[in-house]
Amino acid sequence: MSRLITSFDPWKSRICTCPAKYSLNPYTGCDHRCLYCYSTYIPNFFSARPKKLLLTRLERELKNLPENALISMSNSSDPYPPMERDMGLTRNVLRQISEKNLRLLVITKSDIVARDADILKNMRAAVSITVTTLDEDVAGKMEPNAPEPERRIRALKRLKKAGISVILRLDPVMPKINDENFEEVLERASFVDHVVSSTLKLRGDSYSRIVKEFPELKEHYRRLYFREGERLGGSWYLGRDLRVKLLSGVAEKCEELGISYAFCREGIPFKAGSCDGSHLIA
Ligand code: SF4
Repeated sequence: MSRLITSFDPWKSRICTCPAKYSLNPYTGCDHRCLYCYSTYIPNFFSARPKKLLLTRLERELKNLPENALISMSNSSDPYPPMERDMGLTRNVLRQISEKNLRLLVITKSDIVARDADILKNMRAAVSITVTTLDEDVAGKMEPNAPEPERRIRALKRLKKAGISVILRLDPVMPKINDENFEEVLERASFVDHVVSSTLKLRGDSYSRIVKEFPELKEHYRRLYFREGERLGGSWYLGRDLRVKLLSGVAEKCEELGISYAFCREGIPFKAGSCDGSHLIA
């Protein structure tokens, strides 16, 4: 059986600025079905299923991690799919990690994570929740099975109130979808400790899903990505000037609100202690 905890290596991306960390996914696949998801190279991806023998394998593998190691959960799925509400698998993962002297960065798009504040507040942990828009219609199209944006904001608030460092993941910023209203997301979440943002990167299947839902963007995206954009690490990026322009808007708003910010896999400098917010974990 393959290893459960692996070194984080995002396709050997030369513009990834992440610190050395390990990757842990309690589930394979994800039910949230985001149109822009980058993980669909995994078979049957939009159907989450728990990893086999998860807790037994985890116990064995945690013993081999160096003290103080940073675990990122999760990078290629969501640790809080809807079934986690009843199953509590990720909750048990937290319990096991909490017994070791390890650092944990939780990355999710679900408010279920707030349920686990009682464990997380006693861990060396931070929680990153993605919110791309407050517009329920747009979120319903882009992230059809993820909890509504307001629920995610409330979860961030609850975790912060419990004394846990919280990160807003404003990712991706998508031309003509959320690039004109992301400021309101930052305003609503201005209590967070850090923001990480990134522009939409496309692969063939995510392009098809997006233009199927937003047919009016087909030609526009074709031009921005495939004619004027650039190919980096297996994905299509917007042209650099447009990426700088969009992310400068995020930077300016964060500076106005006094929030630390960084960019993910953009090749654009930032001042924060880390891109992913792991600098918040003592
Ligand atoms: S929550 Fe993350 S892993 Fe799940 S479908 Fe959306 S982008 Fe993919």
